[in-house]
Amino acid sequence: MINNDDFLVVVDAGHGGVDSGAVNGNNLEKDFTLRVSKYIYDRLKELGIPAVITRTTDKDLPKNERINLINQISKKNPNVIVLSNHINAGGGEGAEVVYGLRNNDRLANMILNNIGDAGQVKRKVYQRRLPENPNKDYYYIIRETDPRQSVLIEYGFIDNNKDLNKLKNNLLDYAEGVVKAVANYMNIPYFNPGQTLPNIPEKTEDDVYVVQKGDTLWSISRKTGVSVEQLKQINNLTSNTISIGQQLKLKKEGEPIEDNIYVVQKGDSLWAIARKLGINVNDLINYNNLTSTTISIGQQLQIPQTNQEYYTVQRGDTLYSIARRFNTTVDKIIEDNNLLSSMLSIGQQLIIR
Ligand SMILES: [Zn+2]
Repeated sequence: MINNDDFLVVVDAGHGGVDSGAVNGNNLEKDFTLRVSKYIYDRLKELGIPAVITRTTDKDLPKNERINLINQISKKNPNVIVLSNHINAGGGEGAEVVYGLRNNDRLANMILNNIGDAGQVKRKVYQRRLPENPNKDYYYIIRETDPRQSVLIEYGFIDNNKDLNKLKNNLLDYAEGVVKAVANYMNIPYFNPGQTLPNIPEKTEDDVYVVQKGDTLWSISRKTGVSVEQLKQINNLTSNTISIGQQLKLKKEGEPIEDNIYVVQKGDSLWAIARKLGINVNDLINYNNLTSTTISIGQQLQIPQTNQEYYTVQRGDTLYSIARRFNTTVDKIIEDNNLLSSMLSIGQQLIIR
């Protein structure tokens, strides 16, 4: 279990198992919510944002179990954001975001605007009250997760053919909009899938980082690769407050840094580490004889040395053309690069083995 007093994003995949949610033919809400939730979860991890997900398979997750799970993971921490993902039904078109009576509409608006920018019709952000008690939220996922900041996102209408097409083809674009909104809301540097953070400043000779305008401990952690916990520990910080010009030490005196060892940071997943190091996640698992994908903060992983070359994507390239050129397969390239989709961008670097 993650213990995080600062912040955490709980990605909730609505419905599951016997509870299909809304249905249109063989299109089930629970499948869409799982797909969108896994994507958001993986991307948040990639951005270094601590995240958990309520389900990763098509399993039953009834109300009480779901709430208990969220409560156990995130304690009564108002800094926690709960993103509950759903697909609408009942006639209508577009996306809407419901936010809690205890919250303002800022995050909800950022999310809806980004989904709109990704091509979906924007309906509205709103609060919905329980008819028998208007002081309470209508949706349990919002009501029972107080005092966390909870939003329920409806990506479109499953019983509207135009929306259904979009859900089939563009859902992950909307998901990326949600990821971007959360990063912006948290003031965490955002980058596109498969890219890395631009403008990483060089560490100074003494491994000291000077706090810049707009920095937070989280953004500094992302820039320097030193976890927030380590930053606080090394610098004897008792709160998350830092000031411009403040000098932060990045390592303890005399601490050796080995090149072929990676120390697990807060928020890491094996998948995120593999991306960070430009290696295959299976190689990382095998090389370290890991028997599960669970890792813990501070754990040391051996970095496998690999024979590989890099290919820079040119205009007109597709995964298929690149696979043909290097006499390999599309699946192999996707696996070696931990790609989330088959979309490539010009200038992107691919590992070829
Ligand atoms: Zn639903």
